Amino acid sequence: MGLVEKIKHVKVNTMEIVEHRQVMILGGGPAGYTAALYAARADLKPLLVTGMTLYGQASQTTCIENYPGFPEGVDGNDLGRRLDDQAKRFGAEVIYDSVQCVYLQQRPFKVCLSGGNYTADSLIISMGASARKLNVPGEKELTGRGVSFCATCDGAFYREKDIHIVGGGDSALEEALFLTRFARSVTIIHRRDQLRAGAILENRARSNPKIKFIWDSVVREIIGEEKVTNLRLENVKTGQQEIIPSDGVFISIGHIPNTGVLEGQLKLTEHGTIEIDGHMETSVEGVFAAGEIADPIYRQVVTSAGMGAAAAISAIKYLASIGEADIARVN
Ligand SMILES: Cc1cc2nc3c(=O)[nH]c(=O)nc-3n(C[C@H](O)[C@H](O)[C@H](O)COP(=O)(O)OP(=O)(O)OC[C@H]3O[C@@H](n4cnc5c(N)ncnc54)[C@H](O)[C@@H]3O)c2cc1C
Repeated sequence: MGLVEKIKHVKVNTMEIVEHRQVMILGGGPAGYTAALYAARADLKPLLVTGMTLYGQASQTTCIENYPGFPEGVDGNDLGRRLDDQAKRFGAEVIYDSVQCVYLQQRPFKVCLSGGNYTADSLIISMGASARKLNVPGEKELTGRGVSFCATCDGAFYREKDIHIVGGGDSALEEALFLTRFARSVTIIHRRDQLRAGAILENRARSNPKIKFIWDSVVREIIGEEKVTNLRLENVKTGQQEIIPSDGVFISIGHIPNTGVLEGQLKLTEHGTIEIDGHMETSVEGVFAAGEIADPIYRQVVTSAGMGAAAAISAIKYLASIGEADIARVN
């Protein structure tokens, strides 16, 4: 009897039945599903745990125009369903549950879900990140209708519009400069009277005729019925409020990688993302990470999917090295 059979359905204590997998994938966005596809095609019968956002962040947009192979663009949910079909076709199993805890200091690794516990020889962590929110009235209601968290994704929808961007760091300025390709004007709203961005970016932004600044101000409300029409701002020094017209607002105040359930168990970077090497391996051997949870820079569907493929290939090689997979079956 192989190791897998031996520890399948073992009682680890009086209460819990543990099911064992060679590889589990934690998170069901583009990174996780692509990892599942590759692991399934290597006959590893991976188990993917979706979490609460089925198909990941991309499901929040109706038009992804920059994912290769879809010249007319693709609805985020549609893409998610296709990824799901493709991974399942090769034997991936998908479970609609959330990871509650992970134990990486024991072998095999242990993963607890709301509906039961599992052990796994290797893990691919792809739980993504969440854009930091302003948490003001109108933000949630108008997301996708004038409120955006991704300039690269949505910039092209704002041709010849007068838009705003909230934030004062490198990302906010990079996004503002990118948005000037489309928008008539881009106004940066920043809570301080100076930027936190690097000097080169700041000089570029300041010398761009399309970019304006509103200093010492925060957004208190995003206003609109069908789409964003106005912003209510407050000057943090004077307390004075004003309502200004706006065709759209990009919120660029950072991303929070979804690492909560991993706390203290593997190394993180200064950005709060999981530290990985060139093989997508984390500081714990046999644990790989892919997509936005390990990527503070690119944050795209295509880059996340690519990282998912790379993580799965590395996991297959790792499993082969410990005698749990056939290295010939990588693709
Ligand atoms: C509104 C919007 C529009 C976008 N438009 C585009 C676009 O046009 N083009 C583009 O390239 N990119 C776009 N992006 C960015 C793109 O969606 C992300 O880069 C991509 O989805 C990241 O993929 P991921 O798999 O790393 O993580 P995510 O998509 O964040 O998926 C993470 C997954 O992990 C799961 N998860 C989280 N916590 C747990 C847990 N505890 N247990 C189990 N599972 C968990 C979630 O349920 C989710 O399924 C957009 C993002 C947003 C928000």
